[in-house]
Amino acid sequence: MRPSILYPLFAPVETLSGIGKRFNVLLSNLCGNKVVDLLWHLPSGLVDRRCLIPLRQAPDGKIWTGKVRVVEHVVPKSRKQPYRIVVEDSTDQLILLFFKVYDGIAKQFPVGAEKIISGKIEYFNNSLQMSHPDYVVDAAYPEQMPLIETVYPLTAGITNKMLNKQIAQALQKVPPLPEWQDNRFLEREKFPAFREALWQAHHPQSFADLEPSAPARRRLAYDELLANQLSLAIVRGRLKKQKGRALGGTGVLKNKLLQMLPFELTAAQKRVIAEIENDLQSDYRMLRLLQGDVGSGKTIVALLTMLKAVESGAQAAIMAPTEILAQQHYESISELCAKIGVKTALLTGAVKGKSRKALLEDLASGNINILIGTHALFTEDVEFKNLAYVIVDEQHRFGVRQRLSLSQKGQLCDVLVMTATPIPRTLVLTQFGDMDYSKIDELPVGRKPVITTVMPLSKIHDVVAALDRKIADGTQAYWVCPLVEESEKIDLSAATERFESLQKVFGDKVGLIHGKMKDKEKDAVMEQFKEGKIKLLVSTTVIEVGVNVPAATIMIVEHAERFGLAQLHQLRGRIKRGNEASSCILMYGYPLSEVSRARLNTMKQTEDGFLIAEEDLKLRGGGEILGTRQSGFSNFMLADLSVHGDLLLTAHKDAALILQQDENLQSARGQNLRTLLYLFEQDDAIKTYKAG
Ligand code: ADP
Ligand code: MG
Repeated sequence: MRPSILYPLFAPVETLSGIGKRFNVLLSNLCGNKVVDLLWHLPSGLVDRRCLIPLRQAPDGKIWTGKVRVVEHVVPKSRKQPYRIVVEDSTDQLILLFFKVYDGIAKQFPVGAEKIISGKIEYFNNSLQMSHPDYVVDAAYPEQMPLIETVYPLTAGITNKMLNKQIAQALQKVPPLPEWQDNRFLEREKFPAFREALWQAHHPQSFADLEPSAPARRRLAYDELLANQLSLAIVRGRLKKQKGRALGGTGVLKNKLLQMLPFELTAAQKRVIAEIENDLQSDYRMLRLLQGDVGSGKTIVALLTMLKAVESGAQAAIMAPTEILAQQHYESISELCAKIGVKTALLTGAVKGKSRKALLEDLASGNINILIGTHALFTEDVEFKNLAYVIVDEQHRFGVRQRLSLSQKGQLCDVLVMTATPIPRTLVLTQFGDMDYSKIDELPVGRKPVITTVMPLSKIHDVVAALDRKIADGTQAYWVCPLVEESEKIDLSAATERFESLQKVFGDKVGLIHGKMKDKEKDAVMEQFKEGKIKLLVSTTVIEVGVNVPAATIMIVEHAERFGLAQLHQLRGRIKRGNEASSCILMYGYPLSEVSRARLNTMKQTEDGFLIAEEDLKLRGGGEILGTRQSGFSNFMLADLSVHGDLLLTAHKDAALILQQDENLQSARGQNLRTLLYLFEQDDAIKTYKAG
């Protein structure tokens, strides 16, 4: 249960005054609708109203604040004209413009009265103007002027003033909380206490205070990171304690298969196979992440290790994120397995009726050794005779919670999560904590590079002409259309338009595939592309997930500047062949931001996924990497991994040390750390304790 001291922070925002229904909706889109969500909504800027200089020197376009005397009111002759009030200080005159006139304006500015005003100055026809001053206070009460105004990220319908008011109230609700951080650490880092840090973060006195390096911001980031690392370590620690099954294996099937392979395993493949086998053999449960770039040969690693389970008389399963991918795994795995007498089957949503029933029977009786499929594998009526090892091929999708719950199907299952997305070490830590981790950091020898060129969209006609020649030679190509954020509809129309214009050149050799199509339709188009009936496949990013068409060696990405680095890397992986050179053309439109330019350059310079991932993190910050905000990969509110990486490493060590000394968080500090976990809504970790 959440400690009662935190109740006010987890109360709905309606408990603050001045929040109506509409505001509430807007607010929950902006940051959330609990009081604590407002606290985590840190300012992005400030308006300094301390600049007290004479009017004569007021710079154009800047906020000016100062004391003025009201000279006269100019009532407009027509409704189109603004209401004007002339004011002055000892150096110059200023015209205040009001396009919306309100009752009481005359009373607020009696001629001769002294006011302190603040707002943006504009020069117009040699005179100074200010439309609708931001603040007007009586000169007798200068303290009413907010000299520094905090600026928050906003959304349409919420003004900065409104948000400031609500956040000020939210800050009032923060009780003094018991310190969960180590005091010596706080002193060394010059970190304020939590409540103080929150207050400071929301009241920046200078632009330096808005930087992620400001002590208050670092303190808050550290709190969040420690909560993250602690919770992962707790869940992980519990899993580690569970006894699993020792899958010894005989090596018979593995050796048979190795002898049949037309290639030698790379050193990296051998190393990770040994790492995985070690886990399988031990009687602890395995939870291991296997990372390897596209084409690094993960499938064979998966298969060889699954054979160990089969040799031990158990079953193994591999789960892919889409039907096409499951199908592809099935094709490559079943072919090899057939040769060594291992039975495989494919289970996807498309398998229905009698064949499904038969399959389930074979599975329950143990007739099937290795099951390949989509998440359909883990629907309730699927029963294994003896499932001991599960591989989740995530390609580039993530979902930790799902992953943890999945291993509950076969009790005591060993779990291997495979991903083709190279993840920087810092992100691995935030996502997986101490999850064991293997990396295939080497490609099979002799792979030819993908030649990547970057060019402006204005050269599209040259590209189409070149494509025409290549296609006449029998080459196949992908044409990837731009991603328009938050609007699948626009994505789609861009792709459809491109499809239609390319049809004029290539006729029925062009196909179209997009996310709005039904799985069946998509599969049909993919099939035609595989068979070579379609030579040029226009698509939205649906092909991103690892579909393999060997004859497709050209990829054109339209508006490549709109894609993330990792996404471009994934896309390019589709045409990586090895024995043949392939080419990737990244076409960009304007405006081209610095970051986009840097991204495209990186793509041109390297194919090393791990390098690309590090670069991505640097360019974008952890939250956005891989477009993962949506997929919940890294959704820190206060920490920014592109700058707080050092804190993450410290938090990682700190969490380990804390649990080493106080495994169940029973000590006085342990109790306070529990509050921290609740504060950052890591309740799951604490439930782990209860579950035993
Ligand atoms: P990934 O899933 O990691 O992208 P795959 O497992 O699909 O890569 O392997 C890509 C291709 O490389 C496959 O055709 C596979 O047979 C081949 N392959 C795997 N390992 C090796 C190796 N050591 N030497 C040569 N080819 C290999
Ligand atoms: Mg693969």
